[in-house]
Amino acid sequence: MANDIRLNDGRHMPVIGLGTWPMDDAEAERAVATALELGYRHIDTAVRYGNERGVGRGLAASGLPREEFFVTTKLNGPHQGDGPAIDGLRESLDRLALEYVDLVLIHWPLPQRDLYVQTWRTFERAQEMGLARSIGVSNFKPAHLERLARETSVVPAVNQIQLNPYVTRQEHRAYHDEHGIVTSSYSPLGKGGDLLRDPVIGEVAKAHSRTPAQVILRWHLQLGLVPVPKSSREDRMRENLDVFSFELTPDDMRRISSLDKGGGVDSDSAGH
Ligand code: NAP
Repeated sequence: MANDIRLNDGRHMPVIGLGTWPMDDAEAERAVATALELGYRHIDTAVRYGNERGVGRGLAASGLPREEFFVTTKLNGPHQGDGPAIDGLRESLDRLALEYVDLVLIHWPLPQRDLYVQTWRTFERAQEMGLARSIGVSNFKPAHLERLARETSVVPAVNQIQLNPYVTRQEHRAYHDEHGIVTSSYSPLGKGGDLLRDPVIGEVAKAHSRTPAQVILRWHLQLGLVPVPKSSREDRMRENLDVFSFELTPDDMRRISSLDKGGGVDSDSAGH
């Protein structure tokens, strides 16, 4: 399996990213530097996490050439709209000490503010200006994506949504697949809760001599998803990246997918 996935704009994104919420600057700096040392090449942050400076310091400490790592950030409510989106992105770049991000996402659609279409057009401009290589969204429902499709000309490269074996989001995935949008999974390990102790996950893990987290992340990859697991611990970061040398069977995949409990984050307006 390739370690990166092609986006609809022709660029490539590494298929495992390091999530950085809820790290503060100091923790993010340490975690990002460690992750890059271990071989991670994709880091997920957001204005709202308040850790872009720390992420930037971790990136710089790695000494890696800029083209070797992929950084995603997300703009939230205060940066929706035309001017605010460009200003917000420039401020993020300043905190990250980067000239461009690889991907910028609208963090939440916030339909009650009715600015996400305008923000999206501004993202198209930011891409043309070279501030972001790829542009996408997060927490968008198919109805929000439909509206972008009707009223704008660029299809988001990515929609990052809550997704794991308890929350499989089939309707969203089907829409994304039909429209060439890559699905990125947040809370891919179920926030480190019950999912990691689920008996079915445990059985599959035992059969493959792998850990529950590895089996879950492998399930994401075999579905063509891009999970961004968060860990601040070096041993777990290493474990979460070591998922390319085994394969779940079709039966394993079915059993894991059948754990779906429905639901998931249904709000389109959190976090503003
Ligand atoms: P998650 O990645 O599913 O789970 C993280 C939790 O699992 C942490 O408590 C971590 O603890 C633990 N963990 C990690 N690896 C483990 C392993 N191998 N074994 C056992 N436990 C492990 O949940 P998340 O943090 O909610 O989501 C991940 C990322 O998605 C966030 O960091 C953020 O970047 C992004 N996100 C985006 C949105 C959005 O609206 N777009 C919303 C939420 C999250 P330790 O750190 O102690 O290892």
